[in-house]
Amino acid sequence: MKQTTNETIWQVRNSFLGIYVHFPYCFKKCDYCDFYSEGIGSGPANDEMSLFSSYQKEVLERISHFPNLKNKTIDTVFFGGGTPSKATTKHWENFLHFLRSEFEFAKETEISIEVNPEDLSPNLLDEYAKIGINRVNVGVQTRNPIGLEFLGRHFDKEKYDSLLCTLTSSPIKRVGIDLMYGIPGLQESDFFSDLAYFLEAGLPHLSLYSLTLEKGTQYSRDVKDHKKSEPEEKTQSEILLTLPELMEKNGYRWYEVSNYAKPGFESKHNLKYWTYEPYLGIGPGAHGFIEGSRYGNPRNAMTYQKKPPKNQYEEATPNTELALTLFRLFSPFQYLEFFQTYLELPTQTKYIETIHKWEKQGLCSIVSGVFQWKKEALLLLDDLILEITE
Ligand code: SF4
Repeated sequence: MKQTTNETIWQVRNSFLGIYVHFPYCFKKCDYCDFYSEGIGSGPANDEMSLFSSYQKEVLERISHFPNLKNKTIDTVFFGGGTPSKATTKHWENFLHFLRSEFEFAKETEISIEVNPEDLSPNLLDEYAKIGINRVNVGVQTRNPIGLEFLGRHFDKEKYDSLLCTLTSSPIKRVGIDLMYGIPGLQESDFFSDLAYFLEAGLPHLSLYSLTLEKGTQYSRDVKDHKKSEPEEKTQSEILLTLPELMEKNGYRWYEVSNYAKPGFESKHNLKYWTYEPYLGIGPGAHGFIEGSRYGNPRNAMTYQKKPPKNQYEEATPNTELALTLFRLFSPFQYLEFFQTYLELPTQTKYIETIHKWEKQGLCSIVSGVFQWKKEALLLLDDLILEITE
């Protein structure tokens, strides 16, 4: 990446490796969630120890299949899920030790963990800081009990009330939250009052995304059975359009459709997905992208632990895949470099023609090999991405 006085310009950066680890258990399965996750209540998972040992086995298996992985430097590690804060810190600590024994780590490796409000406490953040975790993201979604009820999310009022104070006094400075909008039953003002609450505290990273209806979820079944309403699309579009200016006024950079960060606080790990960088995906339901190949693990913790992950890889198709992620970035990027590195010549030509057409339509700016969307593209984004990949 290249830092200018007031922007970061994303560049091709594929000599480093990220590691994603999926911990699949949660207190309760939320109705809208389509990640692989299982609700198990407040206690620990029965198979936690064996799951962590399977993580190690999988890392070794992937290395034996791709020996060049050993030559990569790890610059991001991301513990996601599910709810990884449900696992004991000791297990994360041991696993980090293991990773450090297998790979070289960059000096400033970003090590992130997702935390749910019910687990968050000053003590937990102290433990995380001690084992080297340096970024924490909390899935808040909304502070409104009616909204949380609608989402079928576990809600511990005391924890929701204290989470902001816990985050602002955290020894870990790279902290962020997720907030959701367009939840039926809530008003636009409910979302903006939640947002104001966190903006006032100046949290360095905010993911602001709309509720979506995903196939196979409890929420989609409830909508089909007329028990719940669909997401409020009109409200979602209004909020989506309001956010860039509001967030900019508050000192945030809009770097991806749904992600805002204070300068330098972007999620380095998530940027890998958008900028086509390689990553190792470990755990049930995890996906990986290594040496131009993709793989996915079974979405079942038992199956994952019983059978070693299959060495089945599918060749990635950058001619279509690159656009799906790269054009989600709202911060500038070196488009020529990306196109020349990953695309075949005819596709490069087609992409270049398309973005110049967008420029004429006033949807983006193109200056010296650098592309950046304008806000005008926001509501058309899905169609525009489709257009360039067709
Ligand atoms: S806590 Fe997160 S991962 Fe777990 S069920 Fe809810 S949305 Fe899904």
